[in-house]
This record gives sequence, structure tokens and C-alpha cells, in this order.
Amino acid sequence: MSGPTSRRHGDGRPSPSEGAVIRARDLTFRYPHGERNAVDVVDLDVAVGEMVALLGPNGSGKSTLLRLLLGALASARGSVTLLDRPLADWRRDDVARAVGVVTQTEEPAFPLTVREFVAMGRYAHLGAWRREGPVDRAAIAQALDRCGLTALGHRSVLELSGGERQRTRVARALAQQPRTLLLDEPTASLDIAHEMSLFELLAELRQDGVTVLIVTHNINVAARYADRLVLLDRGRIAAAGTPDLVLTREIIEPVYQWTVAIRREDDAPQVIPQRKHPGMTRHHHTGRLE
Ligand code: ADP
Ligand code: MG
Repeated sequence: MSGPTSRRHGDGRPSPSEGAVIRARDLTFRYPHGERNAVDVVDLDVAVGEMVALLGPNGSGKSTLLRLLLGALASARGSVTLLDRPLADWRRDDVARAVGVVTQTEEPAFPLTVREFVAMGRYAHLGAWRREGPVDRAAIAQALDRCGLTALGHRSVLELSGGERQRTRVARALAQQPRTLLLDEPTASLDIAHEMSLFELLAELRQDGVTVLIVTHNINVAARYADRLVLLDRGRIAAAGTPDLVLTREIIEPVYQWTVAIRREDDAPQVIPQRKHPGMTRHHHTGRLE
């Protein structure tokens, strides 16, 4: 298997010949009573088969941007084209059929089992009236397996840990077998093995031609897997391009307001936030870990 870096094509930018899965122009949105635009004149292109990571500090507009791309919020200004069709021409349930979505927060309201919850990902195909067929059952089983949930299939979603619940929501999106996946911080409460497994899975899907747009705070893992990074800062794109282009001290420090060092892993740049007072804790160290 080739490493994630070898999967990048050229400078990581979509070539003009490839169709754009997402194309946003001048996208602008302000919440009622908001003091500034949550998303401010954003241009974004995601090409077929690309994996793009959307980064940025808390409140920089990442979730709002995803909602605008899906038509869940209507922009005051600008346009979105989804799969070469203006978003305005899409019916909401057609968007749901075409794009797999993992939103940032969603508490399960009903005591469904994990399998039942993941099976809801098939509704986009089935409609509520049709019974599951063998194709649906295979898709559900594969989604459970890929998210390490097979053994939890009969558990109630109300009794899961935060990480298990999050993997259940990813599995539901995968059960849909979408060609385009939008994920909002899907690894936020996952341990390192589950987080890396999810990125490996996304890399696998990307190899199969699935287009991925993922919001994450794990800059360093994103740098190792994504073709391109898009960095938001107060609703605007502060930088976009290959990890090497975006992850520099000059770009990262003013956006996050923190001093960082840049190292390398897997031939990708890694952002290491620096301690403010190195050595101070060591001075008072008791020798205990807690
Ligand atoms: P991120 O996902 O990058 O953390 P968000 O898109 O959630 O950022 O938020 C962007 C900005 O919009 C923030 O200033 C946030 O406080 C504001 N905001 C988010 N959701 C709402 C809302 N429903 N109503 C008003 N303001 C909101
Ligand atoms: Mg968010």
C-alpha cells in the first residue's frame, strides 16, 4: 500500500479538467444578531476524488461553511455549485442522497440500537416504505465493520460512550455509500487508534474515488492525509493549498495566536505548539505523574 503522501497529485490543487464536487464563490453569511459575518466572502473548490481538510480556530466559521454548502443555511451573498448544479436547483432530499454528512453535534433522541441507527443511512436510498434487501444489509454490515461497531450492533445508542456514538454517526453516513462525504470534527472524542483508523478509512475511500471534505482540529493528522488544507480565520480563508504551503509559522501563529514550531512526519509538516514557560513545571516536579 502506498503512503498517503504518494497519493497527492501535483501540487494538490484540483486540475481544471476534473469536475468540481463543490464550488463556492463569494459565500457570505451572518447569523441574526451576529456582530460580524460568520462566513465572509469565501471561495472554495473541492474536486472529484480530493480529500480536503477544513481547519481553523473555534468559531472561525467551519461548521457554518459546511451548512451553507449543504443548503442547510441560505447565504446572504455568493453561490454554491454542488456536483455541477447550482445548490438552488437541488431538492434537500436529493442533497441527502448525494452527500454523506456527519454533523458536529447530534444527540440521539430515540433508544435505537446501533444497527438500527446505522440502517437509517439507507433511508436516503430506500425511502421509509421499502424493506431492507441484501444490498442494504451488506452496506450496513460493512459500515459497522469499518467503524469497529459490529460487536456493538445490539447496544442502545443511548448507552454508548462519546467516541462510540461518534463512530456510529460516521457508520450511518458510510451505510449510505455516498460518493461525497462531509464530516464536521468526526474524530473530536476519539482516542488515537480510533482517530487514525478513521483517517485510514477516509484515505481508503478516497482511493476508491470518494470525495472527502473534513473539518478537524487535528492539523497534524490532516496534514498527513489530506491533499489540501483550507484554513479559516474569522470567516475568511487565511490560506489554502498543500500542507507545506499552509502549515508555516508565518501563517499558523497569527491565526491561532500561539507560538508553534514546524517539524516533519510522513514527509508532511507537523505543527508543534510551544510551551510558554518551558522548564517551570520541571523545577517544581515531584517525580509523580499526577
Ligand atoms: P466553528 O465551526 O469554526 O467553530 P461556527 O461556524 O460554529 O465556527 O461559528 C462561527 C461563528 O458564528 C461564531 O462566532 C459563532 O459564535 C457564530 N454562530 C454559530 N452558530 C450560531 C447561531 N446558531 N447563532 C448565532 N451565531 C452563531
Ligand atoms: Mg464547528
